[in-house]
Amino acid sequence: MRQIPSGSALHRLALDTATRCGVDVGAVAGDVMTVSPVNGERLVDVGWSDGAAVDDAVTRAQAAFVQWRRVPAPARGALVKRLGELLAVHKDDLATLISLEVGKITSEARGEVQEMIDICDFAVGLSRQLYGRTMPSERPGHRLMETWHPLGVVGVISAFNFPAAVWSWNTAVALVCGDPVIWKPSELAPLTALASHAILTQAIADCGAPADLTQVLVGGADVGEALVDHAGVALLSATGSTRMGRAVGPRVADRFGRSLLELGGNNAAVVSPTADLDLTTRGVVFSAAGTAGQRCTTMRRVIAHRSVVDELTDRLSSAYARLPIGNPLEDGTLVGPLIHRAAYEGMERAVEQAVDEGGKLVAGGGRDLEEAAPDAFYARPAIVRIDRQTDVVARETFAPLLYVLPYDDFEEAVALNNAVPQGLSSSVFTSDQAEAEKFLSAEGSDCGIVNVNIGTSGAEIGGAFGGEKETGGGRESGSDAWRAYMRRATNTVNYSGELPLAQGVSFTV
Ligand code: NAD
Repeated sequence: MRQIPSGSALHRLALDTATRCGVDVGAVAGDVMTVSPVNGERLVDVGWSDGAAVDDAVTRAQAAFVQWRRVPAPARGALVKRLGELLAVHKDDLATLISLEVGKITSEARGEVQEMIDICDFAVGLSRQLYGRTMPSERPGHRLMETWHPLGVVGVISAFNFPAAVWSWNTAVALVCGDPVIWKPSELAPLTALASHAILTQAIADCGAPADLTQVLVGGADVGEALVDHAGVALLSATGSTRMGRAVGPRVADRFGRSLLELGGNNAAVVSPTADLDLTTRGVVFSAAGTAGQRCTTMRRVIAHRSVVDELTDRLSSAYARLPIGNPLEDGTLVGPLIHRAAYEGMERAVEQAVDEGGKLVAGGGRDLEEAAPDAFYARPAIVRIDRQTDVVARETFAPLLYVLPYDDFEEAVALNNAVPQGLSSSVFTSDQAEAEKFLSAEGSDCGIVNVNIGTSGAEIGGAFGGEKETGGGRESGSDAWRAYMRRATNTVNYSGELPLAQGVSFTV
């Protein structure tokens, strides 16, 4: 029988690992128990803050802001460089905590930490490239330009499934932009958050930067709500479900704050008759079953041409039958557990609804390792063949459940890709260049991420990350996403000694 480690072994491992990252495990202990999805047993007990702690945190962050905004951006970059170095030292430790708290397999957990290191590298370079433009002025002897300044306190609310990387995307960029960060991590992964915060605290001490540039408030939605409503939080960056974003977005807007929303996805791949089916199968399996289906960019729909849909379904089904499911900390495992019982039950309900709506379960489904880990929820990644995009297919079910639908012509496939409320990621598998270009064009996929011959998940940090419609419209990470973390000032400088007015207006007294 495949083995799942005991609660006491994981408890010890969690405390030792967090201590190595610099967490004072005695000081953060409290009366809220967390459970490891690996075995469904108690992992640690930590203390929670409540919403009342937010005001003090914002006051301290504002004081740090006043100091930090005066530091030249390249010097701010030196702090992020140090953070990247320390993250590299603790790569395995943080990855272990991620696996313990959210059940990611080791390779993907290490990948998440690598992403944190990568964004630090990116942000260090960015610290010398926070460019404004200079425009030609219409008036003689005038200069017209824009400058970018630090914005203020950034509040970060993060989801369980990327318990550290999302914070680093925001934090590395915010720090070089001159902003302090207050983090409300997922209540399901407090140790990963405390360890990441401890590593940044060490970097801050090494560089002599203000300590309150980083604060973490472990707690529930009430802490998030207090950050959302606080007028001292200049930018609220929230990652999680569309339900959460629907609550958060209007509240931040109501106080004219800035929000950056990264919400749910329902990502599809279009598979054309010319697709390389070997490559397609590998791309789909990683995107649909990897991370046990718990990425915002997880592939949830395959829209395959009628001439290839049967063969592709057969290939996917046989790959699914070979997926090693089990202890995420063990070499060779490709599918770890779901985060909790509710996630598993949500998957079961979705399969039932899909069958009621005319679908057929063709691979996987049900629970694995029930005897070895009665309190953990290892789901067998499932495939449902269905002819129409029904209600359940249009919804995000946060589990490894893939719907396979047929199409007859390419325009119909693009329309199906776009006919869901979410707009995060999409891909087309094809050898037909015109089809690929159409998918990428203004008439193609309406998502924030549009790929060719690669799955929907596994983005690199260099590009801007985010999506449209119910995904929230925010962009984080690379490209020019940094602009959300700064304020822009437009400057007109007159060195002419005259006072000509724009648009030829005459106003002389
Ligand atoms: P969730 O919405 O349950 O929780 C996310 C965070 O929001 C948690 O920290 C939670 O405490 C907080 N929160 C919940 N209600 C709140 C409220 N009313 N006010 C303020 N804060 C509140 O999401 P989850 O289950 O942790 O994560 C899974 C979801 O996140 C999926 O929908 C997934 O697609 C999405 N996600 C999106 C991205 C992206 O970049 N688009 C990335 C990762 C996850």
